[in-house]
Amino acid sequence: MRSPIPEYLDEVLRNCADDRAGAVADYVPELAAADPEQLAVAVSAVDGTVYEAGDSRSAFTIQSISKPFVYALALADRGCEAVLARIGVEPSGEAFNELSLEEGSARPRNPMINVGALTAHTLAGPPGAPREERFERIVAGISAFAGRRLEVDEAVCRSEWGTAHRNLAIAHMLRGYEVIEEDAPRVVADYIRQCSLLVTTRDLALMAATLANGGVQPVTGEQVVSREVVRQVLSVMTTCGMYDAAGDWVTTVGIPAKSGVSGGILGALPGQVGIGVLSPRLDRHGNSVRGVRVCERLSADMGLHLMEAPAPARSALRGGRVLHGPGSRSALVHELQGTLQFAGAERLVHGIAHTPPGHDEIGLDLTRVHSVNSVARRMILETVRRLTLDGHAVTLIDPEGVLPDPDAGDGVRPRVVDTWEWGAAPGPGS
Ligand code: GLU
Repeated sequence: MRSPIPEYLDEVLRNCADDRAGAVADYVPELAAADPEQLAVAVSAVDGTVYEAGDSRSAFTIQSISKPFVYALALADRGCEAVLARIGVEPSGEAFNELSLEEGSARPRNPMINVGALTAHTLAGPPGAPREERFERIVAGISAFAGRRLEVDEAVCRSEWGTAHRNLAIAHMLRGYEVIEEDAPRVVADYIRQCSLLVTTRDLALMAATLANGGVQPVTGEQVVSREVVRQVLSVMTTCGMYDAAGDWVTTVGIPAKSGVSGGILGALPGQVGIGVLSPRLDRHGNSVRGVRVCERLSADMGLHLMEAPAPARSALRGGRVLHGPGSRSALVHELQGTLQFAGAERLVHGIAHTPPGHDEIGLDLTRVHSVNSVARRMILETVRRLTLDGHAVTLIDPEGVLPDPDAGDGVRPRVVDTWEWGAAPGPGS
């Protein structure tokens, strides 16, 4: 069978193709030369399967879409506290290239506007590293998200340097307020090189999938940054990623995203998909007109909105079955399924707290569970401990070992089996 997804993506592009609103960015002369008709979409599953349509293999400069990744590298290299001391996380409500700092702290308001992105650039790599080494860290780091080595478009880089007055003003302001400690023009030159890295729409989807996949690049398997770093980056993308249209974006599309002046948009939906889109004509906020339309369609058709209520947690508890064994023994086995987090574990605790009396033996069947997060694990083990101390014999049915080393504390360790079998009969008074 052929997957229906590429045909669907073709249809989405056809549907948006006639929209010629907006204009290609021209404040960098070389960007004005972009073909305004280019249109592409790529969607990557978190296992690295990519579906693509349109000009998804054409290269363009990454521009501001580099910002979340350099922020991620700064967080990884310097730690969250050190980065937060220099760069805030509040939406600015201003243009991306505004000369502004937070009142009082003199911090840039967030890392997605140029003032914050220039600062984040200086925080990648170890403190005091020579700029060549830092730039290599940035190229290698962004490349690791893409899963291939990215190259600089020297023509765009030179062209932007010729009109970099605004970024130079910002960097001098940062130097003046001692937010950065280095030579302002050099920081701008390297930041512009960062923005001039060439990517394809397919690359964007895989970079986004790395974020959606907790920092693990799905094709290379490399843990590029930690889950904690990803959480911070996606949070900031949600509130600040789409220039000053973040509110519109989050309500209509609802996917943590970052756009850039080349007309690219990258969106990452945790645990689900990475999305890349390209169409060079921009709206008044600086976001790709057709790119936004494509993302609105994908979000609506595929139910990708972050705030879409998930299936009710009660589905984690499939129900219970009563088993009758030798003699008059009986056991009540609770069957669980899916991904267990707080809400699913709460259903189990709630169900067991209401267990009808009469079953000395309790089973927890984890056969259909594929992962248990740390709070769910603690809740299950505490339930096992309490049941055991109340005199029940507890058995975990856990053929895949989704709850390894089930030490419930106080010397309590449940029996673990692959499929239900009756153990030794509990002794009197046990
Ligand atoms: N190189 C661009 C600048 O700093 C990036 C802008 C953008 O994509 O928003 O002006």
